[in-house]
Amino acid sequence: MSTEYLVIVFIYGLLVGSFLNVCIYRLPLEKSIIRPRSGCPACGALLAWHDNIPLLSWLWLRGRCRRCQQPIAILYPLVELAAGLLALQVVHRFGLTTTSLLIALLGFAFLVLMVIDFYHYILPDVITLPGIVLGLAVAGWPLGGPPLATLHDALIGLAAGGGGLWLFAWLFEKITGRVGMGMGDIKLLGLIGAWLGWQSLPFTLFVSGLVGSVVGITWMVAAGRSRLQPIPFGPYLVTAAWLYLFYGQELYRWYFF
Ligand SMILES: [Zn+2]
Repeated sequence: MSTEYLVIVFIYGLLVGSFLNVCIYRLPLEKSIIRPRSGCPACGALLAWHDNIPLLSWLWLRGRCRRCQQPIAILYPLVELAAGLLALQVVHRFGLTTTSLLIALLGFAFLVLMVIDFYHYILPDVITLPGIVLGLAVAGWPLGGPPLATLHDALIGLAAGGGGLWLFAWLFEKITGRVGMGMGDIKLLGLIGAWLGWQSLPFTLFVSGLVGSVVGITWMVAAGRSRLQPIPFGPYLVTAAWLYLFYGQELYRWYFF
């Protein structure tokens, strides 16, 4: 693919990232993501178009609001950059296709869920539930094609991901007397199953569990966090599912043959 195409894809990704920031900031507050226009979280000053250019405005303003000089979180340009790179990664791998568009959409949803869960310990239903429906619609139409699931695999994936994890969480709670997983995680795993099929679930659970434990224990030791404090699990689930989407089949083949 020519460099010009990739530059355009990257720019589109950055622009989407700018919208994802609005979702990340407003969804946990249950505010509309459409109105009003974006403003500074500190002083409320509305952003002029030239202060709302992905990445560049933040760099140009040196990470401060033009009016009140309060710092603007580095999270915003990082999300924009991540969305740009995500779009590049998808198009580089799957070309300029409908499948790519759908995979990018899934990736953008993952990105929003990851950041919101990290900061607020919630995975909003307003993303996961329509996400499940859309995943089934994509599989049933069928719009996506590989590596997205067939309807058959998507339905088993939804049942196994949502239902299986619900059962696991219920048992965990019965046995240990502690809440191990939230309903948000369960819906998210249902969403992953609906988009990527049941085949993605063992990998996703295993990798997210492994990475989550390592990071969680390190964090506990380093920051002296209590064992009972919640650790958001969504970021690990979406990262593992994303790895599966790109490398899962190769890894399975490498491991089993
Ligand atoms: Zn301000």
